[in-house]
Amino acid sequence: MSITVTKASNGVVHKDVLEGIISTGKLTPEFEKELFTLAAQENPGSAAKDRSYSPYSNFRVGAALIAKSGNIYLGGNVENASYGATRCAEQTAFQKAISEGERRFLAVGVATDTDAFISPCGVCRQFMVEYGKGLLVYNFKPDGTFKKYTLQELLPDSFGPEDLDRPRD
Ligand SMILES: [Zn+2]
Repeated sequence: MSITVTKASNGVVHKDVLEGIISTGKLTPEFEKELFTLAAQENPGSAAKDRSYSPYSNFRVGAALIAKSGNIYLGGNVENASYGATRCAEQTAFQKAISEGERRFLAVGVATDTDAFISPCGVCRQFMVEYGKGLLVYNFKPDGTFKKYTLQELLPDSFGPEDLDRPRD
């Protein structure tokens, strides 16, 4: 039986699809293709990458974040004339989701215009690990090929909320 992922025009992947993915722990090729479409594919004005505000670097980044609720959050990198105020696409997507009440996430797809597998920066890895180490991170090339990691693989021995609960001398 093939799993069909509904085009997320309404921002929601069918919950039965997500439940199947979560229960089996496997993302299907159809789901991965959809994640790429959401993050990057030329879909004028609607892909995450198209939401980038990057007048200084001209380095567009898009992130498509899938919450376990089935909701999808798209984010672009948001640059600032005061460079230090710049926010990465992953953080944009996460901040949108967190502020809507989401706390559990399945996967994030990251896309750029370069012919390389661009991986989340260190700050983003720390930002994302707050919500779990099992997050799947897809780094997409423009042709749709990708590398896939868990956040645990990208940020081993990380510091997280559980560490704040440890007893202190
Ligand atoms: Zn980053």
